[in-house]
Amino acid sequence: MIDWGLVSCGLRGHITYRPDEAEYADRLRATAAAGEVWRCLRCGDYVPGEPAGAGPADLAPTPTRGRALRQLIILRLLAVLRGVEGSLWLIVGITAIVVRARVPEFLAALKQAFPALEPATQTIGWNIERSWLARSVDRWGEVSPDTIALFGLAIATLGAVKWLEAVGLWLAKRWGEYLSVIATGAFIPLEIWEMIEHVTVFKVVIFAINLAAVAWLIVVKRLFGVRGGRAAEEAENEEVSLLTVEKAAEVG
Ligand SMILES: [Zn+2]
Repeated sequence: MIDWGLVSCGLRGHITYRPDEAEYADRLRATAAAGEVWRCLRCGDYVPGEPAGAGPADLAPTPTRGRALRQLIILRLLAVLRGVEGSLWLIVGITAIVVRARVPEFLAALKQAFPALEPATQTIGWNIERSWLARSVDRWGEVSPDTIALFGLAIATLGAVKWLEAVGLWLAKRWGEYLSVIATGAFIPLEIWEMIEHVTVFKVVIFAINLAAVAWLIVVKRLFGVRGGRAAEEAENEEVSLLTVEKAAEVG
């Protein structure tokens, strides 16, 4: 199993601290051949040299570690995923708005090109004139530029919501977790319907990720009062931060 504390310290440096209380200080300090070493409050490694900070144990830095650190990493992976999704939706939506007037013209030209493309697509076993592409061209060819702009606006709005979700998750905000569950959960029925219509590996993978993300947020992050809800979550985090110094001292 990966020690995320070590990874985090590798990227951002260790966190050492000398508590004023002698009993804590003694447990965090050791003497090596090179001199004094101090135990890192995040990863537990002994770091040579003077501690980075000093003061009462209560005011010691409380780096995110252990369980909370693993959760933060999952939240940030989700945030990156939502950011990528949001960017794609924004690009598609804004493009649709910008080129709306030229869409019917473009689709008509594309449709005219189908017979010429037919021999080429036949060689890869694809009948372009009876494909989803031809059906989409027919469907969208009849849509007015105003309607296309409206679709574009709806898609761009969705992209903006995804970005808000990404920011909330990255910062590990409670509202971000709720927004993510609601925004992602709302599309789960649509995703199921999409898979019934036409199933692809891509759709199944996206569906599985979204379902797992929603379930993880509700259960592990205790949303909607699940497993004691917010109070239990705060109590757990409180405990972790109060005991940071002691826990770092106890390890090993
Ligand atoms: Zn460290």
